[in-house]
Amino acid sequence: MEKATLNIKFLGTCACDFSQKLENEYKDCFGLNERRASAMLINGQYLIDAGMHILDSMRIAEIDLATVTDIFVTHTHSDHFDTFNVERLARNRKKTLRVWIREDASVPEIKNVEYKRMTPYVKYEVDDGVFITGVLANHDIEAAPQHLIAEINGKTLFYGCDGAWLLTRTFNFIKRAEYDIMVLDATVGDYLGDYRMGEHNSIPMLRVMLPSLKTEKIITDKTKVIFSHIAPSLHKPHAEIVRTAEQMGAIVAYDGMELSI
Ligand SMILES: [Zn+2]
Ligand SMILES: [Zn+2]
Repeated sequence: MEKATLNIKFLGTCACDFSQKLENEYKDCFGLNERRASAMLINGQYLIDAGMHILDSMRIAEIDLATVTDIFVTHTHSDHFDTFNVERLARNRKKTLRVWIREDASVPEIKNVEYKRMTPYVKYEVDDGVFITGVLANHDIEAAPQHLIAEINGKTLFYGCDGAWLLTRTFNFIKRAEYDIMVLDATVGDYLGDYRMGEHNSIPMLRVMLPSLKTEKIITDKTKVIFSHIAPSLHKPHAEIVRTAEQMGAIVAYDGMELSI
């Protein structure tokens, strides 16, 4: 069997409608319907987003803060970028914490943080065999939103939370590659008429998108399509979302979910 070269662990899969239960019975554990702010760890060291829950999520997942070398930031909304928590991740490190963020993002200077300002559609080398590219996302423009393409040990991952549909330039850009893992925003559940269509995907929108992504071979038979950034108040319980997603050939992320390819 081929050796796994890409490992992902979801540390949060929620949109902004957090459950009160996170403060009490789920304070020290993950739950399928009690989701924390979206974040994902790649190969144990590259963290996508560090919002208001990241320290709790890492404590529950028993991940040492010092193992994170780089944060890839999708945008500056507080569920994705929390200044105090980034400062906490940067503290007590011998080397600076590298924070990769869109070049025009408005963020404060943080001690021991080295910002890596990213121009959209430009590929940056992070480490040997590890590359990151930001592509523009259809989301609140004030928050400098970008989707991320991470190339790691020859495997390619697309992380597309938060955002609705795909912008023309982004769609044309991502056509250059086949993706091993594609994480897509699924904030809104399986119904029509939600007002968030200009900033987040719904399940019906994903139902339209996925076949077109297949037509362009962005998604192939080997691609793991994963729904994340889920708003529990706009969805059925986890087990039911899983059944719906299965019919679409997709997986539903949950807090603590881990996958290796
Ligand atoms: Zn969000
Ligand atoms: Zn957002």
